[in-house]
Amino acid sequence: MTKVNKTEALSGSHTSFSEAIIQWQKKHGRHGLPWQQSRDAYRVWLSEVMLQQTQVATVIPYYERFLASFPDVISLANASSEQVMAHWSGLGYYTRARNLHACAKQVVKEYNGVFPPEPELLAQLPGIGRSTAAAIAAFSYGVRAAILDSNVKRVFTRAFGIDGITSSKAIENELWLRAESLMPEGVKQIQSYTQGLMDLGATLCARTKPRCSDCPLQNRCVALATNRVADLPAKKLKRAIPTKKIVMLILLKDQHVLLEKRPDCGIWGGLFSLPELLFNEQGMTKQASLHIERHFGHLDSITPMRKVLHGFSHYKLEITPYRCNLTARSNTISEDTHVWYPLEQCEQAPLPAPIKKLLLGMMA
Ligand code: SF4
Repeated sequence: MTKVNKTEALSGSHTSFSEAIIQWQKKHGRHGLPWQQSRDAYRVWLSEVMLQQTQVATVIPYYERFLASFPDVISLANASSEQVMAHWSGLGYYTRARNLHACAKQVVKEYNGVFPPEPELLAQLPGIGRSTAAAIAAFSYGVRAAILDSNVKRVFTRAFGIDGITSSKAIENELWLRAESLMPEGVKQIQSYTQGLMDLGATLCARTKPRCSDCPLQNRCVALATNRVADLPAKKLKRAIPTKKIVMLILLKDQHVLLEKRPDCGIWGGLFSLPELLFNEQGMTKQASLHIERHFGHLDSITPMRKVLHGFSHYKLEITPYRCNLTARSNTISEDTHVWYPLEQCEQAPLPAPIKKLLLGMMA
């Protein structure tokens, strides 16, 4: 590792920040990712939305399946919401999928199927924030625009020794000012610089165990010079995460399972899931049986299954699944909100990952 001189780090060094990033990206950055093979704004946009909150390795197969089914913005805009959600199933943060679909429709309607090059216009489309808009504009159209995703925030707070919670308005404003002022002059190198910042944040300047000895910023990094790499970015105080307990009903008849469409907002919004009840320690099986007889059909047998625990950012969900065999289906079940789905096709259903896993595990 280059010996770090504290005074030099705190005052910056002679090579410009952007130049260091650009040179490093050209030699050591990522160049073979599927969405890097094209400047097509549709592909860039799709990858950028998928990469929000999700790792590259997880995104690649989803990105490829999406492109195979929806090769352009028009085919995505024309797809049904069930088709879009089924392709997103398992990727999480489903608001992204709903926004993606709404955005495709808006681009077709308002821009004749061509994403505009202006970051300000891109940022007005559903699911595209300021940083994503800048990335699309830079990668697709070579526009000089600053990005600031969570990885880049980590690089900046460490490289410049910025204290404070990065989601606070004051720190975020300071980081945006940095992002704007650090960009290279002109547009020639904007793509290498933007990609370099992303690559550095995702590979070297990782949350834990950053590889400072390989970093092009090591001779100017304030956190490294002042031994604060592990302390930056400042961490939010952790609040205790509550657990919500529910029962999910796996209602089975003639090799079909009853799925319920969730409302468009809230967790798993727009996906299908299983009918649920709030869990109650006392007499749950009897309560569930009465509920089923009243709403779904005649019950033959009901068996509690092993609990499933699923984590969201703000709470944990503890699911107690009940396997319920019916002798007859109720004919009052609304077809607007429910569907009897063939069990053997569950793999392709627009289901949240833990529910799909539960159903597939039950059939194995
Ligand atoms: S030297 Fe280490 S902490 Fe500083 S920017 Fe590079 S990887 Fe991050």
